[in-house]
Amino acid sequence: MSNIMLRDVFVSGLRDKAILDRLFEEDNIGLEKTLQIALAMEKACKGANDIMGQGIKAVLALPIVKNLRRPGGKRRYHNISNDTIETLPVTSRELRQETGKDEELGPLLRALREGRNLQGREAQYTIEDGCILYGQRVCIPKKYQKNVLDELHTGHLGMVKMKVLARSFVYWKDIDKNIEEAVRNCVDCARHKTHPSKAEVHYWEYPSMPWERIHIDFAGPIFEHMFLLIVDAHSKWLEVYPMKVTTTKKTIECLRDTFARFGLPRVLVSDNGSQFTSYEFQRFMQSNGIKLKTSAPFKPSSNGQAERYVASLKQSLRAMQKYEGNMQQKQSTFLLQYRKAPNATTTHSPAMLFLKREIRTRIYLFLPELKSRVQDRIRKGVFEFRDRKFDIGDKVPVRIYRAANSKWKFGKIVNRDGVLHYTVEVQGTLVRRHVDQIRPVGDHV
Ligand SMILES: [Zn+2]
Repeated sequence: MSNIMLRDVFVSGLRDKAILDRLFEEDNIGLEKTLQIALAMEKACKGANDIMGQGIKAVLALPIVKNLRRPGGKRRYHNISNDTIETLPVTSRELRQETGKDEELGPLLRALREGRNLQGREAQYTIEDGCILYGQRVCIPKKYQKNVLDELHTGHLGMVKMKVLARSFVYWKDIDKNIEEAVRNCVDCARHKTHPSKAEVHYWEYPSMPWERIHIDFAGPIFEHMFLLIVDAHSKWLEVYPMKVTTTKKTIECLRDTFARFGLPRVLVSDNGSQFTSYEFQRFMQSNGIKLKTSAPFKPSSNGQAERYVASLKQSLRAMQKYEGNMQQKQSTFLLQYRKAPNATTTHSPAMLFLKREIRTRIYLFLPELKSRVQDRIRKGVFEFRDRKFDIGDKVPVRIYRAANSKWKFGKIVNRDGVLHYTVEVQGTLVRRHVDQIRPVGDHV
């Protein structure tokens, strides 16, 4: 029974192009992992859609940064975040000016201004406030691509995170390749790269709500510091507590603090560390109605959720080693970047799934005008979207891409594939369309 349900969720998940795309990115994928990713994405997407009404069109701003080091060699100091101490965003005007001058974007900008009918991939370009958008991503002129790469790499979160972050915000032709090069050539990352554990990771069911199940683990010592990590299995939200000693008493203090903020989880997963197997800890769990699950002995990877984050915290802190600022500041830099970056499994940021909103980071510093306009558009889009629901059997004009004479053809809705996608029959052929590609039409037509 549960297998059938699972399969149904799975199959309906696969109708979603985003999930398919995500799965195709995976090199080595078994059924379990496929299921895990598909289920997590489906649920996360549903949660996010409920919040936004329109899916997360993360259209924000991105930061363009430039080196502020003075000719005299003296650093201009500001205390936003330590590892970006030499950088400040450039203005939107600079980006606009550069778009016109750019070898590739310049001609495109003129074509768009002249209203030329662009075909295929190019049809996805639009102008916004003098900048070119590719879908919802801002096209970055060559001159600033390096700066954007640097900003995306703040916190040294690694290639996968950089790519997903980039996919929400920025675009240029070789961006994926450039990201790969940037990470490969980052000396700090290379020096501290953690080897991913090869062991089988225990399959945990994906919880439908944030803070239903949390995973905890210790990290360290990293530069003589120990850390307690708490990961929410639904949103991948991460809490980090620096600890001088990792006793049961101190661990409970940290948990009390985090429970005061977010409430009690239903399930807590830990390894078999003595802090967690102690009587005192078990009592603490019991008295708060939290089910304690410890991973099997000699198989620590079944708590893989927490362990993965231990590895990325370690790597990030070590990569920031030579930057100014104390451990606390570096930890904050890491957490802000981490919580903002879309997670590879859920495809949404921990912040979006946990706080139900995107958090503002330096990425927003870019293009304030663009931001407000695009937000207006999203707001409008939300209303449009709410009005735009189709029923099976509805006759609707749908966007057709290969037709010579007309862009829109009448079709019949045959299935609702998801919140935003429908399968439409057009003259005997089935096509999948986003609601933006379907127009509502009155009953009398
Ligand atoms: Zn790095």
